[in-house]
Amino acid sequence: MIQDIKPHQFNNEFKHKTPKKDDYLLIFKDDSLMMNRSNDSLNFTKFGQITELNPNITDETIYLFSVDETSIFCTFESVQKTEKFEYCKIDSLRSVLPSWMLYIVATANHLASWYSTNKFCGRCAVPMEFSKTERALCCPKCGLIRYPHINPAVIIGIIDNDKILLTRYADRPYKKLSLVAGYTEIGETLEDTINREVMEEVGLKVKNIQYYKSQPWAFSESLLMGFFAELDGLSDVKIDNKELSEATWYRREEISECESTISLTNEMIELFRNNKINNYDICEI
Ligand SMILES: [Zn+2]
Repeated sequence: MIQDIKPHQFNNEFKHKTPKKDDYLLIFKDDSLMMNRSNDSLNFTKFGQITELNPNITDETIYLFSVDETSIFCTFESVQKTEKFEYCKIDSLRSVLPSWMLYIVATANHLASWYSTNKFCGRCAVPMEFSKTERALCCPKCGLIRYPHINPAVIIGIIDNDKILLTRYADRPYKKLSLVAGYTEIGETLEDTINREVMEEVGLKVKNIQYYKSQPWAFSESLLMGFFAELDGLSDVKIDNKELSEATWYRREEISECESTISLTNEMIELFRNNKINNYDICEI
């Protein structure tokens, strides 16, 4: 999955750091990231490359995390660029970067987006300040503290004996087969979310809910939690046409091998297709 970047080591411990010339400085603008193109390969921009043209950028950088010995920073200042640098749509990078680089892009973009949309206090509108002790933004006037925003969401593999319910979204660019999924609402347990989403999207009930794995999915600023559950009662699907264009029971042999291995959804579909669900430690809840 996207977060499995070994042998690289991801370290997001909160620290105060100043960038060195070989550290990456990621410059986000709208839904794009500035990349360095050389010899037909795309790489991250290094701090040293940016300071050659923008000597005052040092004060405007935010340390995000490190991968191996390289620290990753972001900035929102407008940066003077050369023809070597180009803004690339983050969605377009999904098909061209190796998965460990894509994980850096997605995670950095999630954090950078949180910093850029919390510049002012939501209660009294004064500029927020960086906490000195943790990853948080603090209001110097009213004391409001804002922590990074993550949306919890569930993915549910609904099983009926030798079949699994696969879906397609109605209104998203992603048109491949997926699983019933949805965001947790305020006041819900994860079990409540599962029961509500399954009923809302496909009009079914489930039982024997079992936890499988979780995945940070920064493209939607989410933490995804994957579960398998058994159908409880009738298998007649009542589809929510606003959310889904399809919800169909598939047998293993009717499912094609998933091309991409970065998502938890695909891993769960592959687990069913290969009849390996019972080989994993899954916890009954
Ligand atoms: Zn305030």
